[in-house]
Amino acid sequence: KANARESLYLVSEFANTYFQKTLHKTNPGKAIGLSYFKERGFTPETIKKFDLGYSLDEWQAFSDEALKQGYNIEFLEKTGLTIVKGDKHFDRFKGRVMFPIKSMSGRVLGFGGRILTNDKKAAKYLNSPESDIYHKSKVLYGIYNAKQAIAKEDNCYLVEGYTDVIQFHQTGIHNVVSSSGTALTPEQIRLINRLTNNITVLFDGDAAGIRASLRGIDLILEQGMNVKVCGFPEGEDPDSFARENTLEELTTYLEEHATDFIRYKASVLVDEAKNDPIKRAETIKDIVVSISKIPDRIKQEIYLRECSKIMDISETVLFSTLQQLTQKAL
Ligand code: ATP
Ligand code: MN
Ligand code: MN
Ligand code: MN
Repeated sequence: KANARESLYLVSEFANTYFQKTLHKTNPGKAIGLSYFKERGFTPETIKKFDLGYSLDEWQAFSDEALKQGYNIEFLEKTGLTIVKGDKHFDRFKGRVMFPIKSMSGRVLGFGGRILTNDKKAAKYLNSPESDIYHKSKVLYGIYNAKQAIAKEDNCYLVEGYTDVIQFHQTGIHNVVSSSGTALTPEQIRLINRLTNNITVLFDGDAAGIRASLRGIDLILEQGMNVKVCGFPEGEDPDSFARENTLEELTTYLEEHATDFIRYKASVLVDEAKNDPIKRAETIKDIVVSISKIPDRIKQEIYLRECSKIMDISETVLFSTLQQLTQKAL
């Protein structure tokens, strides 16, 4: 079993080299892949730093080269890079720009691949399937390149996508990782928590996801971390915003707009429920649930006071609601 995993690492490492070679050395790689990255504003240094690559738009270009180099079909299939159907095999990634996903120690675990067209029917990103080395709930894109900066800055920015991570680096902010579009898991939070106690969640400026994400953030509070949140203007995401602004402008924006999570949630919810007493009652319980997740009693008390002001409700009733919740949980 240990040997099998080692073989999956070797196949993934080979694929990482192969996709980069394809990007830099083949005609389609240069004409399609490299042009795409340039159009997005990625410099050659950035492309190298993140080992970005390209997969040819052919049925088995990668798999055949891997087999020719002596890699075993069984391990190719187990990484998900090759799909085996009967006596035929196909490449999973075809005609996509490639983003290798690395572990904290820099080993390649899997890939994300993006289509180059804006075809709404095709999935924009395709990812490696779960394997013995790639567990998507346990990895964070960018952690290898970010770990030192996260420890040094004692803060971690969490963004939605690959390109957000990359563009932040290029602009000069290195303490950034992505959960790649999925809800944050406890394992991912623990990974960050090995490096810092502070996390700033950056939302795309498309509002839809924000409310849904608020609930997920309770998981971060549960682990005793301090959480701030920060949105971007409508239609922008961290990638587009970083591309259009200097490091100084970006840093200033983040400093000015990153808001303590509980404070943010209380004000968003109170706005939404303004004139509806029943909704207001639900909302107040919702915020107390978040506060109940914080392990530190002193912080809980401070947040209760703050929310009592924001939501215009007595501290006493908030406190007794908190006590009810805590007792239920026991
Ligand atoms: P881009 O700027 O390249 O269009 P993005 O990173 O801004 O992409 P979003 O739509 O904001 O893309 O999605 C955030 C992240 O969610 C992506 O980076 C990717 O990891 C994941 N994702 C998005 N669409 C899909 C999809 N169709 N299948 C799987 N994962 C996806
Ligand atoms: Mn988005
Ligand atoms: Mn986005
Ligand atoms: Mn984007």
